[in-house]
Amino acid sequence: MNRISILLLMVSPMCCAQPSPQFETEQLIGKKEISLAGEGYQLLPQAAAAFEQMKAAAKKKGLEIKVVSSFRSYQRQRAIWNRKYKANAKAGLSPQKNIQKIIEYSTIPGTSRHHWGTEIDIIDGAIPPKGDVLISRKFHNSGPYEPLRKWLEAHAQDYGFFCAYPDDSERPGFSYEPWHYSYAPLSKPLYNAYLELDLREALSDLDLDGSKHLDQAFLMSYRESHIKGINPVLK
Ligand SMILES: [Zn+2]
Repeated sequence: MNRISILLLMVSPMCCAQPSPQFETEQLIGKKEISLAGEGYQLLPQAAAAFEQMKAAAKKKGLEIKVVSSFRSYQRQRAIWNRKYKANAKAGLSPQKNIQKIIEYSTIPGTSRHHWGTEIDIIDGAIPPKGDVLISRKFHNSGPYEPLRKWLEAHAQDYGFFCAYPDDSERPGFSYEPWHYSYAPLSKPLYNAYLELDLREALSDLDLDGSKHLDQAFLMSYRESHIKGINPVLK
């Protein structure tokens, strides 16, 4: 081994502490324009191709996978956050309770896996929707989406998709979401790059209702519970 190789070996651990050069911070937090594919939804092209295969396979079993939500930009997530914050404040919730209520199901803008173009919220479009569709009991107990859930649990992994927030009482963070699937071959590297971000710095220009209550301590605990509280196969 020559001297340069030894020097490189000595400095290489330093490289691992830096944010992944593969992804820019703007992309990880939903502020970058990325090229997306899909009809009636938006995913990274590779994820969209895998999704189309999964959709075709489900169709053979009489299931019409319909995407309710896919890629969401920072601005879109911000609009969702502010709408919920205003409604909760109007109902009399304190800022702390307000934020806790929002983060049962919704993310702080800049921290959503939906920013990556690898995530989908899906239902069975063959069944006429009644009221809110993303309700976990509708995926169980002979609910309208139970057959879809069972099929996904058995077959989604064949196409690279896994439920991000499975039903596991040990899992912290977001509530059970039987509808939220993640395309692992792309979301895993994005997740690992995300964990290398300095969250406070990346989200330093948060311009949200209630943002003054999202301090460093809150963001650190949110990172541990909500960002890392996912299906272990997606890590
Ligand atoms: Zn989702």
